Amino acid sequence: MKIIRDIYEMQDFSKKIHANDPHKKISFVPTMGFLHEGHCSLMRLAKQQSNYLVVSIFVNPTQFNNLEDLQQYPRNEEKDIQVCQNENVDVVFLPTVAQVYPPREKYAKDKLVLDYPKLTSQLCGKFRPGHFSGVLWIVHNLLLWVQPDIAFFGLKDYQQFILIRQMVFDLSLPVKVYGGKLIRQDNGLALSSRNSRLSEHGRKSALQISQSLFAVKEKIEKENINKEQAMQFWQNFIAKLKVEYANIYHPITLQPLDSQSYLSQRKDGYLLAMAAYVEDIRLIDNILVQDTLF
Ligand code: AMP
Repeated sequence: MKIIRDIYEMQDFSKKIHANDPHKKISFVPTMGFLHEGHCSLMRLAKQQSNYLVVSIFVNPTQFNNLEDLQQYPRNEEKDIQVCQNENVDVVFLPTVAQVYPPREKYAKDKLVLDYPKLTSQLCGKFRPGHFSGVLWIVHNLLLWVQPDIAFFGLKDYQQFILIRQMVFDLSLPVKVYGGKLIRQDNGLALSSRNSRLSEHGRKSALQISQSLFAVKEKIEKENINKEQAMQFWQNFIAKLKVEYANIYHPITLQPLDSQSYLSQRKDGYLLAMAAYVEDIRLIDNILVQDTLF
């Protein structure tokens, strides 16, 4: 397994592979590290569909809304490299902040803002101004440095997945984008690097997030209720949590559905998604109910 820290070395590596044999496929899983089964499931999907698997680990400062959150983001490079080794990763790409965001001596300080105002007006985008511009910028650039044929993103970050898929389409980037299913613990808790910061008690409280999602989904399926009724049930279920948002959205436009909408009759399906703070740690989870759009 190769470890590459330099952006241009990464680019050369991929260029050489493509030049030597145009049929060889490079797959790519971008991450912020502190790897868990959610990341590993993407790596396994990617490995199956390619000859070379590149995993990047980069905690991207421009997608954090405050310095404290960035500083407290869990990191363990040594262990992550070991995880990659076990998953038969071919290249771990560890770019440095200094090279990704160099001083701009000869350039204006103005910032390129990649944004989809409507798609980011709801869900996480509504509460994290600038977050997705940071995500889109770094993913765009990582795609140029790694030059993969296929890139894999988790549906755990559903809004992120939709935005990246849209950017790749609109900018005509030469890469296929795949979404990997959300991976949970046996008890239902969505895996996240941020879970490592929860206490035992916090983990129990956090369980209410996934439990509420499953309960609402079941109620919708069993009782054929409309959104207003589903929301009432859901809000009661999560009354004790510090909820940032919890709503039911259109899976492609990401706009909240109409309160009179009968959910199980919708041909486009629906997305149940929420964010909540547990012990001041922001957790997100969702359930996507649809089987025709992707
Ligand atoms: P992160 O390191 O949190 O930025 O995540 C890197 C990639 O792994 C993103 O595409 C995430 O959506 C994905 N990911 C993180 N957690 C999970 C999970 N529990 N299930 C599936 N994919 C995940």
